[in-house]
Amino acid sequence: MPTRSGPDSQVFLERVRSFFLEKLPLRPNYEERPEQLEMALGVARALAEEEILVVEAGTGTGKSLAYLVPCLLWSFEHGQPVIISTRTLNLQQQLLEKDIPLLRSLMEQPFRATAARGWSNYVCLRRLDSVQSSQQLPELAHEAGELSEVLSLGAPGIRQKLPVSDPLWSLVHADSQACNRQMCPHYQECYLFRERREMERSELIIANHSLVMADVALKANGAQGILPKPACWVLDEGHHLEEVANDHLGRAISLGDLQRFRQTVFDPKGKVNDAGWLPLLRDRLSKTEERSRLLECLDQGLLISLPGFYQVGEEFFYGLTQSILASGASEMGTRVTLNSDFFHTPEGEDCRRLSEQWAAHMEHVESAARDLHRMLTDLELEANQGGLAELQSLVERVKSLRSNLEFCIFPDSGDWVYWAVATANNATLGATPLDVGERLAAEFFGPARSMVVTSATLAVGKDLSFYEKRVGLDLHQNRVARSLLDSPFDYRQNAYLGVATDLNDPNRAEFWERACEPLLWLLQQLGGRTFLLTTSYASLRLARERLAEPLSQLGIRLLCQGQAPPGLLLEEFRRDSRALLIGADSFWEGVDVVGDDLSCVLITRLPFRVPNDPLVQAHCRRLEEDGLSSFTHYQLPQAILRFRQGFGRLIRSQKDRGMVLVLDSRLYHKSYGPEFLSALPACNRRAGRLAGLVQDAIKWLKGFDS
Ligand code: SF4
Repeated sequence: MPTRSGPDSQVFLERVRSFFLEKLPLRPNYEERPEQLEMALGVARALAEEEILVVEAGTGTGKSLAYLVPCLLWSFEHGQPVIISTRTLNLQQQLLEKDIPLLRSLMEQPFRATAARGWSNYVCLRRLDSVQSSQQLPELAHEAGELSEVLSLGAPGIRQKLPVSDPLWSLVHADSQACNRQMCPHYQECYLFRERREMERSELIIANHSLVMADVALKANGAQGILPKPACWVLDEGHHLEEVANDHLGRAISLGDLQRFRQTVFDPKGKVNDAGWLPLLRDRLSKTEERSRLLECLDQGLLISLPGFYQVGEEFFYGLTQSILASGASEMGTRVTLNSDFFHTPEGEDCRRLSEQWAAHMEHVESAARDLHRMLTDLELEANQGGLAELQSLVERVKSLRSNLEFCIFPDSGDWVYWAVATANNATLGATPLDVGERLAAEFFGPARSMVVTSATLAVGKDLSFYEKRVGLDLHQNRVARSLLDSPFDYRQNAYLGVATDLNDPNRAEFWERACEPLLWLLQQLGGRTFLLTTSYASLRLARERLAEPLSQLGIRLLCQGQAPPGLLLEEFRRDSRALLIGADSFWEGVDVVGDDLSCVLITRLPFRVPNDPLVQAHCRRLEEDGLSSFTHYQLPQAILRFRQGFGRLIRSQKDRGMVLVLDSRLYHKSYGPEFLSALPACNRRAGRLAGLVQDAIKWLKGFDS
């Protein structure tokens, strides 16, 4: 256990405590929350004693103020920023638009809080100039002129706040590899670097997990990171850390990457306006004295090599999709394992042959871009600083595509999981480190002075060890402190949990034959106001097919994941209270519908992860090799955490009330059922056949209402 406790630490804890006892009560609608104070003191201790605090804080604790206040006070004392990272934009906005303004009104000392964003969120003024002065792209040049005008009137140079089309943005956003940095004539006024400088002077930096993990990956490769080197971090929504780390510390190459390359570099088949950066460069080179040499090098070297590169790339991804289907993927969107079997089918052999051809095309493009770069450098054409940077960026992008392709197509390391996936519009080849925890332990937790990891769901039962192992905190045991804080909500009074004992597989027709009638009766009684959570897209589709028609007869609207972006669906759900929303993965968590708009959550199946997913298979295999049960040590804890998240959608405020019905009898019959149940807060619990259960639940709700 950490041992740095001392008088300074006590003084700091007292400062935090007095803020909560004296200042926070001054805010309007203040509610005293003992759990919040306890969490704030835990965070203060972690900062003062250089610990890593893992704190599960139930819904309604008031987590954000519990970490923002000690972080701010710590930053005032030490003159260093603290980085707060969230997974979702919603939480980031809540911090920036609600919690931080509130703190400004309560703190005696002014402070700076800056949002950290990735490069592609900022406009690059050098690129904007190039597009604006281009004769090659007249429509975009006109739009670029308008954008410049908006910026000159003081608009912030970030995408979310600018009126800009996708084609223009793809040419004018900032790009680390194409940036001239101090050599750029716009360096001082550059929006990105202005914000970076501001960030260095801030007390709080509000980031997101993707940016944080991208920063870790860049710094691990010796590149310049995005974020300053802070001493202290807070990771809210920390249960996402493993998944985001997998994405950013892994390797992948997709058809989408190739399409983006084509749109931004040069699209021989594109409309003039979508044709990319190389035509702009060509336009500039054609105005130089050395144009004949330069244009020959560009046209006969680089431009001529790109169509083949695109064509073979597309053929490769088509071949990859065929190989995935041939390997027995049950449906599009299912990840399959890449191993020697995968490449031993005729389709797989074809796919590998195409990958070799594609890599050869990449080498060709890279070398043509280098030739032109060299020629431009030798000629010392000052006006072409931008062109050099773009060519350098092109070289780096092709290099990265080739390196990822060659890494993923030859699965030869037991420390990586190799996989492929295809959907209707995309195909991806990827590799994920089997033990991302080791890298997080070394590259993320190790260098941090202190760290707070928090979420409403980190523990299985009352045990945090599963989470800690997954993210590498087991390798920092001597620095880890733990805290489990219950939600202040009254679940005994306000929540009903029903377990249907006669249903077990929503992917079968019998399930819906039994479930349809009782569920429709329930929905009629409730007037909609229900989420139905599924564990796969197949069961989502089946539920939609079964319920669409009868629901429309009841005048209840059916909203379904996939119809529209999740945020829009949620807005619709809140607006139209007579609705049923069917959601798969993204609706199990992070979704907040407060009040009577959501009275019922239906969980169709216990959320065990798909057993044939490559990562799940690899983790299970490794545990079994170590003599451990993969069910007990991996699948069960994963499912319990997910189940807790699904249950957590119901009660989002002190006054919320409603029911969760689980339509999976395994919760009742199987020996592991009690482990799921004991992970939930104590509430009214019943089990029985669905037809009786829905009546009991409605009776409970009405009794409660009267
Ligand atoms: S400093 Fe870099 S990002 Fe900023 S305007 Fe110049 S080239 Fe663009």
